[in-house]
Amino acid sequence: MAEVAINGVRKNYGDLEVIHGIDVSIEDGEFVVLVGPSGCGKSTLLRMIAGLEAITGGTIAIGDRVVNSVPPKDRDIAMVFQSYALYPHMTVEKNMAFSLRLKGVDPSVVAERVGTASEILGLQPYLKRYPRQLSGGQRQRVAMGRALVRDPQVFLFDEPLSNLDAKLRVQMRTEIKELHQRLKTTTVFVTHDQVEAMTMADRIVVMNDGNVEQIGSPLELYDAPQNTFVATFIGSPS
Ligand code: ADP
Ligand code: MG
Repeated sequence: MAEVAINGVRKNYGDLEVIHGIDVSIEDGEFVVLVGPSGCGKSTLLRMIAGLEAITGGTIAIGDRVVNSVPPKDRDIAMVFQSYALYPHMTVEKNMAFSLRLKGVDPSVVAERVGTASEILGLQPYLKRYPRQLSGGQRQRVAMGRALVRDPQVFLFDEPLSNLDAKLRVQMRTEIKELHQRLKTTTVFVTHDQVEAMTMADRIVVMNDGNVEQIGSPLELYDAPQNTFVATFIGSPS
Protein backbone atom coordinates (compact mmCIF):
# COMPACT_ATOMS: atom_id res chain seq x y z
CA MET A 1 0.00 0.00 0.00
CA ALA A 2 1.20 3.48 -0.84
CA GLU A 3 2.22 5.76 2.02
CA VAL A 4 0.82 8.81 0.21
CA ALA A 5 -1.87 8.09 -2.41
CA ILE A 6 -3.03 11.00 -4.54
CA ASN A 7 -6.01 10.01 -6.67
CA GLY A 8 -7.69 12.25 -9.25
CA VAL A 9 -6.86 15.34 -7.23
CA ARG A 10 -8.11 18.66 -8.54
CA LYS A 11 -7.85 22.17 -7.15
CA ASN A 12 -9.83 25.27 -8.01
CA TYR A 13 -9.20 28.82 -6.90
CA GLY A 14 -12.62 30.29 -7.59
CA ASP A 15 -13.50 29.40 -11.17
CA LEU A 16 -9.91 28.69 -12.11
CA GLU A 17 -8.76 25.07 -12.00
CA VAL A 18 -5.01 24.98 -11.28
CA ILE A 19 -4.58 21.21 -10.61
CA HIS A 20 -6.32 19.09 -13.22
CA GLY A 21 -6.73 15.61 -11.79
CA ILE A 22 -3.41 14.25 -10.59
CA ASP A 23 -2.54 10.65 -9.66
CA VAL A 24 0.66 9.97 -7.74
CA SER A 25 1.44 7.02 -5.53
CA ILE A 26 4.34 7.39 -3.10
CA GLU A 27 5.73 4.31 -1.38
CA ASP A 28 6.81 3.99 2.24
CA GLY A 29 10.35 5.33 2.63
CA GLU A 30 10.55 6.86 -0.82
CA PHE A 31 12.13 10.26 -1.56
CA VAL A 32 9.91 11.76 -4.26
CA VAL A 33 10.62 15.13 -5.87
CA LEU A 34 7.89 17.26 -7.46
CA VAL A 35 9.56 19.38 -10.10
CA GLY A 36 8.31 21.82 -12.70
CA PRO A 37 8.34 25.48 -13.67
CA SER A 38 7.12 28.24 -11.40
CA GLY A 39 3.31 28.34 -11.21
CA CYS A 40 2.75 24.72 -12.33
CA GLY A 41 1.08 23.76 -9.03
CA LYS A 42 3.82 22.12 -6.94
CA SER A 43 3.17 24.10 -3.76
CA THR A 44 -0.58 23.75 -4.14
CA LEU A 45 -0.28 19.96 -4.36
CA LEU A 46 2.09 19.83 -1.38
CA ARG A 47 -0.18 22.09 0.66
CA MET A 48 -3.12 19.80 -0.11
CA ILE A 49 -1.10 16.84 1.23
CA ALA A 50 -0.38 18.93 4.34
CA GLY A 51 -4.01 19.98 4.69
CA LEU A 52 -3.21 23.68 4.30
CA GLU A 53 -5.38 23.88 1.15
CA ALA A 54 -8.77 22.23 0.69
CA ILE A 55 -9.03 19.60 -2.04
CA THR A 56 -11.58 20.44 -4.75
CA GLY A 57 -11.87 16.88 -6.11
CA GLY A 58 -10.34 13.44 -5.71
CA THR A 59 -8.73 11.96 -2.61
CA ILE A 60 -5.46 12.05 -0.74
CA ALA A 61 -4.64 9.20 1.63
CA ILE A 62 -1.75 9.06 4.10
CA GLY A 63 -1.12 5.50 5.22
CA ASP A 64 -4.49 3.77 5.30
CA ARG A 65 -6.49 6.94 6.00
CA VAL A 66 -8.16 9.30 3.51
CA VAL A 67 -7.23 12.71 4.91
CA ASN A 68 -9.37 15.07 2.77
CA SER A 69 -11.18 16.40 5.82
CA VAL A 70 -8.46 15.83 8.43
CA PRO A 71 -6.98 19.12 9.73
CA PRO A 72 -3.20 19.64 9.36
CA LYS A 73 -2.41 19.08 13.04
CA ASP A 74 -4.04 15.65 12.92
CA ARG A 75 -2.07 14.54 9.86
CA ASP A 76 1.17 12.81 10.73
CA ILE A 77 3.29 15.15 8.59
CA ALA A 78 5.93 17.85 9.11
CA MET A 79 6.59 20.58 6.57
CA VAL A 80 9.71 22.67 5.89
CA PHE A 81 9.32 25.86 3.86
CA GLN A 82 11.66 28.10 1.89
CA SER A 83 11.35 30.89 4.45
CA TYR A 84 12.22 29.23 7.70
CA ALA A 85 10.02 31.42 9.94
CA LEU A 86 11.82 30.57 13.17
CA TYR A 87 10.51 32.13 16.37
CA PRO A 88 12.93 35.07 16.76
CA HIS A 89 12.57 35.37 20.53
CA MET A 90 13.28 31.68 21.20
CA THR A 91 16.64 29.90 21.32
CA VAL A 92 17.40 27.11 18.85
CA GLU A 93 16.57 24.56 21.52
CA LYS A 94 13.19 26.18 22.27
CA ASN A 95 12.39 26.56 18.58
CA MET A 96 12.81 22.82 18.16
CA ALA A 97 10.93 21.92 21.34
CA PHE A 98 8.00 24.28 20.83
CA SER A 99 5.57 22.15 18.81
CA LEU A 100 6.11 19.12 21.04
CA ARG A 101 5.54 21.17 24.18
CA LEU A 102 2.33 22.55 22.66
CA LYS A 103 1.18 18.99 22.13
CA GLY A 104 1.87 18.23 25.78
CA VAL A 105 4.66 15.75 25.12
CA ASP A 106 6.51 14.76 28.29
CA PRO A 107 9.50 17.13 28.90
CA SER A 108 12.00 14.26 29.15
CA VAL A 109 10.83 12.96 25.78
CA VAL A 110 11.06 16.47 24.31
CA ALA A 111 14.63 16.84 25.60
CA GLU A 112 15.59 13.48 24.14
CA ARG A 113 14.09 14.24 20.71
CA VAL A 114 15.71 17.69 20.58
CA GLY A 115 19.02 16.11 21.60
CA THR A 116 18.85 13.49 18.86
CA ALA A 117 17.76 15.97 16.18
CA SER A 118 20.47 18.48 17.07
CA GLU A 119 23.08 15.73 17.00
CA ILE A 120 21.91 14.56 13.58
CA LEU A 121 21.89 18.12 12.21
CA GLY A 122 25.09 19.29 13.90
CA LEU A 123 23.23 21.91 15.93
CA GLN A 124 24.55 21.03 19.39
CA PRO A 125 26.93 24.03 19.58
CA TYR A 126 24.08 26.43 18.76
CA LEU A 127 21.29 25.30 21.08
CA LYS A 128 21.44 28.42 23.28
CA ARG A 129 21.67 30.86 20.38
CA TYR A 130 18.87 32.92 18.88
CA PRO A 131 17.98 32.76 15.16
CA ARG A 132 19.54 36.19 14.47
CA GLN A 133 22.88 34.78 15.65
CA LEU A 134 22.86 32.01 13.04
CA SER A 135 23.89 31.76 9.38
CA GLY A 136 21.34 30.95 6.68
CA GLY A 137 22.41 27.32 6.58
CA GLN A 138 22.19 26.98 10.35
CA ARG A 139 18.72 28.50 10.34
CA GLN A 140 17.58 26.08 7.68
CA ARG A 141 18.94 23.23 9.83
CA VAL A 142 16.90 24.50 12.78
CA ALA A 143 13.81 24.55 10.53
CA MET A 144 14.57 20.94 9.63
CA GLY A 145 15.14 20.17 13.31
CA ARG A 146 11.66 21.42 14.13
CA ALA A 147 10.27 18.96 11.59
CA LEU A 148 12.56 16.14 12.71
CA VAL A 149 11.64 16.21 16.40
CA ARG A 150 8.05 15.47 15.48
CA ASP A 151 9.13 12.13 13.98
CA PRO A 152 6.38 12.33 11.35
CA GLN A 153 5.15 9.68 8.95
CA VAL A 154 5.86 12.02 6.01
CA PHE A 155 8.23 14.98 5.47
CA LEU A 156 7.06 17.71 3.10
CA PHE A 157 9.66 20.16 1.80
CA ASP A 158 8.71 23.22 -0.27
CA GLU A 159 11.83 24.61 -1.96
CA PRO A 160 13.72 24.60 1.35
CA LEU A 161 17.06 25.48 -0.25
CA SER A 162 16.01 28.30 -2.58
CA ASN A 163 17.19 31.07 -0.24
CA LEU A 164 20.67 29.64 0.23
CA ASP A 165 23.76 30.47 -1.83
CA ALA A 166 24.85 27.97 -4.47
CA LYS A 167 27.59 26.28 -2.47
CA LEU A 168 25.49 25.81 0.64
CA ARG A 169 22.56 24.60 -1.47
CA VAL A 170 24.66 21.76 -2.87
CA GLN A 171 25.93 20.86 0.61
CA MET A 172 22.42 20.85 2.07
CA ARG A 173 21.19 18.55 -0.73
CA THR A 174 23.73 16.00 0.44
CA GLU A 175 22.80 16.51 4.09
CA ILE A 176 19.09 16.05 3.42
CA LYS A 177 19.80 12.89 1.45
CA GLU A 178 22.00 11.52 4.24
CA LEU A 179 19.25 12.30 6.70
CA HIS A 180 16.79 10.40 4.54
CA GLN A 181 19.14 7.43 4.24
CA ARG A 182 19.40 7.36 8.01
CA LEU A 183 15.73 7.82 8.90
CA LYS A 184 13.99 6.43 5.80
CA THR A 185 11.04 8.75 6.38
CA THR A 186 8.77 9.07 3.35
CA THR A 187 9.58 12.45 1.79
CA VAL A 188 7.92 14.71 -0.77
CA PHE A 189 10.34 17.44 -1.85
CA VAL A 190 9.32 20.33 -4.11
CA THR A 191 11.78 22.23 -6.29
CA HIS A 192 11.79 24.13 -9.59
CA ASP A 193 15.43 23.09 -10.08
CA GLN A 194 15.78 19.99 -12.26
CA VAL A 195 19.39 19.41 -11.17
CA GLU A 196 18.24 19.32 -7.55
CA ALA A 197 15.52 16.87 -8.56
CA MET A 198 17.88 14.63 -10.53
CA THR A 199 20.47 14.48 -7.74
CA MET A 200 18.07 13.92 -4.84
CA ALA A 201 15.09 11.88 -5.99
CA ASP A 202 14.33 8.18 -5.88
CA ARG A 203 11.53 9.14 -8.25
CA ILE A 204 10.65 12.42 -9.91
CA VAL A 205 7.17 13.73 -10.70
CA VAL A 206 7.45 16.23 -13.56
CA MET A 207 4.60 18.75 -13.42
CA ASN A 208 3.50 21.31 -15.97
CA ASP A 209 0.49 23.60 -15.85
CA GLY A 210 -1.42 21.59 -13.22
CA ASN A 211 -0.75 18.20 -14.83
CA VAL A 212 1.75 15.40 -14.34
CA GLU A 213 3.87 14.97 -17.49
CA GLN A 214 5.88 11.95 -16.34
CA ILE A 215 6.83 9.99 -13.23
CA GLY A 216 10.04 8.03 -13.12
CA SER A 217 13.51 7.57 -11.67
CA PRO A 218 16.10 10.18 -12.65
CA LEU A 219 17.62 7.67 -15.05
CA GLU A 220 14.27 6.85 -16.66
CA LEU A 221 13.53 10.54 -17.23
CA TYR A 222 16.99 11.15 -18.58
CA ASP A 223 17.01 8.10 -20.89
CA ALA A 224 13.38 8.07 -21.94
CA PRO A 225 11.55 11.37 -21.58
CA GLN A 226 7.95 10.79 -22.61
CA ASN A 227 7.47 14.10 -24.39
CA THR A 228 9.16 17.27 -25.51
CA PHE A 229 8.27 19.13 -22.33
CA VAL A 230 10.07 16.59 -20.13
CA ALA A 231 13.05 16.38 -22.48
CA THR A 232 13.42 20.15 -22.64
CA PHE A 233 12.89 20.70 -18.93
CA ILE A 234 15.24 17.95 -17.75
CA GLY A 235 17.85 18.89 -20.33
CA SER A 236 17.91 22.62 -19.62
CA PRO A 237 20.72 24.17 -17.55
CA SER A 238 19.67 25.26 -14.05
P1 ADP B 1 4.36 26.45 -7.92
O1 ADP B 1 4.54 26.11 -6.48
O2 ADP B 1 4.60 25.30 -8.83
O3 ADP B 1 5.15 27.65 -8.33
P2 ADP B 1 1.65 27.15 -7.09
O4 ADP B 1 1.12 25.87 -6.57
O5 ADP B 1 2.11 28.15 -6.10
O6 ADP B 1 2.81 26.84 -8.15
O7 ADP B 1 0.54 27.85 -8.00
C1 ADP B 1 -0.18 27.13 -8.99
C2 ADP B 1 -1.17 28.08 -9.65
O8 ADP B 1 -2.17 28.43 -8.70
C3 ADP B 1 -0.55 29.38 -10.13
O9 ADP B 1 -1.19 29.74 -11.33
C4 ADP B 1 -0.87 30.35 -9.02
O10 ADP B 1 -0.98 31.65 -9.54
C5 ADP B 1 -2.22 29.83 -8.55
N1 ADP B 1 -2.46 30.11 -7.11
C6 ADP B 1 -1.70 29.67 -6.08
N2 ADP B 1 -2.22 30.07 -4.90
C7 ADP B 1 -3.33 30.78 -5.20
C8 ADP B 1 -4.32 31.47 -4.40
N3 ADP B 1 -4.26 31.46 -3.07
N4 ADP B 1 -5.34 32.08 -5.08
C9 ADP B 1 -5.40 32.05 -6.42
N5 ADP B 1 -4.52 31.44 -7.21
C10 ADP B 1 -3.49 30.81 -6.62
MG1 MG C 1 5.80 26.94 -5.03
